[in-house]
Amino acid sequence: MSHVAVADPRATLMAAREELLGAFAAVLERGRYILSEEVAAFEREWAARCGVPHAIGVSSGTDALALALRAVGVGPGDEVLVPAMTAIATWMAVSQIGAVPVGVDIEPDGGGMDPEAARRACGPRTRALVVVHLFGQPANLAALGEVARAADVPLIEDAAQAHRARLAGQPIGSLGAAAAFSFYPTKNLGAVGDAGAVTTPDPAVADRVRVLREYGWRTRADAEVCGVNARLDEVQAAFLRVMLGRLDENIDRRREIAAAYLGALADVAGLELPVSRADSEPVWHLFAVRHPRRDALAAALEQAGIGTAVHYETPPHLNTAFRPGGWPEGSFPVAERHARTALSLPMHPALRDPEVDRVIEQVNRAASEI
Ligand SMILES: *Cc1c(COP(=O)(O)O)cnc(C)c1O
Repeated sequence: MSHVAVADPRATLMAAREELLGAFAAVLERGRYILSEEVAAFEREWAARCGVPHAIGVSSGTDALALALRAVGVGPGDEVLVPAMTAIATWMAVSQIGAVPVGVDIEPDGGGMDPEAARRACGPRTRALVVVHLFGQPANLAALGEVARAADVPLIEDAAQAHRARLAGQPIGSLGAAAAFSFYPTKNLGAVGDAGAVTTPDPAVADRVRVLREYGWRTRADAEVCGVNARLDEVQAAFLRVMLGRLDENIDRRREIAAAYLGALADVAGLELPVSRADSEPVWHLFAVRHPRRDALAAALEQAGIGTAVHYETPPHLNTAFRPGGWPEGSFPVAERHARTALSLPMHPALRDPEVDRVIEQVNRAASEI
């Protein structure tokens, strides 16, 4: 029996093979490879999808977050609140610009930053709050927005896992001072390589990101600040425009799979299913369950040909790079418990119904045997 992949970017991209090859040929033949019409068109289309006036294409999600933070005024030595359970990239974007990531524990159910813990973590050097919509589940932005307002700092969305998700009817990516998207191949909108974008309602923030992404240039005659090269290139922008045409149907498919799992796995002993906020429309970048015997469950599923993954094995604060930050084990108990118990089940748009049924059957069997 074939192996069921936990994620399969190749299958999703191959479904658009002819269109992608056509898009590549058009860019190749046109001869303009950097910051030209494909990037401009993608930026317009992505801004419209996010319900904001501005999107700026950049080289990755990490760079998007780093540039968004710089554009709202975060600099060296400033403290930035970040969730204690997220991709390591969230913390790295903060340290990349010389700022200091300050961990905040997550909510027990949702996995987003805990507003009460965020309030306690605010201090005199706090300059921004980065909220992550982990696994495509919108975080508690109403409460976290209050925390940011009370501290008088901007709220930045790390929306790398939440393309097209909504909260109280509003698109993720439009709800803070700026948002960072990643188009890494496995993300809900994936390129054929690295890519990212910043979205923002604020024209001044958009302007600063544009200047920073290309050497600090406003014009080629003068670099007005010290910028970087974090451009999105024309080929990836053209690919993203193709995949954008399929994004909504791909998300619908993720939702069908999530609904099947939620329905059929509700009574599995020991298994905790993901919980969505009542007013949210999640997009299921990942389907992460929790189980006290996670490693045994993963091994039993692998035996049965079901791929799984752990997001994330090591919470950022326990990585060697962040040890000097001084958070020993036990600092963020909810995040650490998540890291010990989380298991992501297969979730991608190319998953077929018989494969979904097999996952359900095998999770039921494995959970009863371990
Ligand atoms: C993928 C991801 C990033 C980083 O994006 P890259 O494009 O790989 O740089 C940042 N934050 C989160 C939550 C992510 O999932």
